[in-house]
Amino acid sequence: MIKIIFINILRRVRFAPSPTGPLHIGGLRTALFNYLFAKKTGGSFILRIEDTDKKREVAGAEKYIVDALSWCGIFPDESPATKSAFGPYRQSERNHIYSKEIKKLVESGRAYYAFDSEEELASCRKECEKRGETFIYNYQSRLALKNSLSMSKGEVADLLKKGRRHVVRFLVPKDKNVKTVDIIRGESNINSSLLDDKILMKANGTPTYHFANVVDDHLMKITHVIRGEEWLPSLALHFLLYEAFGWKKPSFAHLPLILNPNGKGKLSKRGGEKGGFPLFPIRWEGETSQKGFKEHGILPAGLVNYLTTLGWSPKEDSEALSLEELTEMFQLKSVVSAGANFDLEKLKWYNHKHIQEASNEFLVDELQALNISQQKIERKRLTEAIGMVKERADTVSELWGLLEYLFLDPKEYDEKSMKKIKKDGLNKICSEIISLCKNTDDPGGFIDSLKVWGGDNGFSTGQIMMTTRTILVGGLIGIDLQKIISFIGLEVVSKRTMVFSKKAYLTIF
Ligand code: GLU
Repeated sequence: MIKIIFINILRRVRFAPSPTGPLHIGGLRTALFNYLFAKKTGGSFILRIEDTDKKREVAGAEKYIVDALSWCGIFPDESPATKSAFGPYRQSERNHIYSKEIKKLVESGRAYYAFDSEEELASCRKECEKRGETFIYNYQSRLALKNSLSMSKGEVADLLKKGRRHVVRFLVPKDKNVKTVDIIRGESNINSSLLDDKILMKANGTPTYHFANVVDDHLMKITHVIRGEEWLPSLALHFLLYEAFGWKKPSFAHLPLILNPNGKGKLSKRGGEKGGFPLFPIRWEGETSQKGFKEHGILPAGLVNYLTTLGWSPKEDSEALSLEELTEMFQLKSVVSAGANFDLEKLKWYNHKHIQEASNEFLVDELQALNISQQKIERKRLTEAIGMVKERADTVSELWGLLEYLFLDPKEYDEKSMKKIKKDGLNKICSEIISLCKNTDDPGGFIDSLKVWGGDNGFSTGQIMMTTRTILVGGLIGIDLQKIISFIGLEVVSKRTMVFSKKAYLTIF
């Protein structure tokens, strides 16, 4: 009998942000898809910090990235905080590796030293412009420029010895068809003559993104590169780099863009401002402090669930799904290539679902962390109140507004509601409420008794209910009236009614 053994090659994926600012929602979606893909088969999710461009680095950005991922429940298996043979995980700590690897490419003739100064290159660009052409450093121009291909070995050795400023460029082959493959987008072909000889090592001896990225993906044994669509134009160059080294390529998947709510352009700061939502998961304390989704009352589970629908769809009639459930269902090959519009209402819909699933205890913590109310409220009471109102909340921040009247007396009475209440007999209703509060020992039957009294005295049920609700809540809003009474207690009911009967006559009628 022939036995077929399936070997499940463990996936190794990486999220490789540059610490140039807070993690954008698009970056978070990339991290999330990488995480789901890896975890589905027990693979590894790696966080690599691509900090080779020190000029663009922003203090606190790396910490923010780690904090934002943890808030979402995404914990890397390997990162600057862990030790392993594949580290270090900050590119700025890997320069010795890049120096070694670039030598290999130069020695094999696949990369070369270029000594052209900024001024010389600028003048080449100008010359070309005059002729209506675009200057490209490639097979057409390289031999007329100052580099180790156009100069003698002796000259080059001399310049290097003198420490002359230079970069290392990739020798892009001429007229080669580069066939790229992407899991989401399929195959595409590009002629290498359209590419320029990209700088791999900068004059300051540090690598460029392209070089460090390919070297690290190879050395860290990354099996799948899942990243944003904006990197698609670099794919041919990366393929050529792998080929130049003679390395096996990982598989690539470029995720679709997240678009502004109106579908016009990549999700932008302006798009967020117009739509009234932030672009970051949690608060960013940069030059100015900017709120994130957390501070807008969005739960991490709600945000994560919503983000998975941007480019992928968990199910036809999707419901609230946890990170674990999403991991179970995730299929990279069913991610689509079309951009996805950001839809705040849909995010709130998911958040609403997750609020219903969350424990009231957890919601107390989340609500208190938002610091919306300065009221000191007993935790047990707040937990109970949250349970009573949460079915009406789309965000955690809305919870306080929905339950405030369960703890605080109305400060004012809504004008529209007051207009609906009949003035006639109002005094009588107020007196009856106060006397019922004194005389009943069954708060649970309060509304029923009041209705019976109303019926006997010529008041409609509607009139009784609207009046009592306005007295207790300040307007015609809120949960079931009997539930409110049972929660706040008859003493408070009586007090609010006395205040109402005084204030209402003085100020409103
Ligand atoms: N450092 C790049 C970025 O900030 C990573 C791109 C990639 O994943 O290859 O997006």
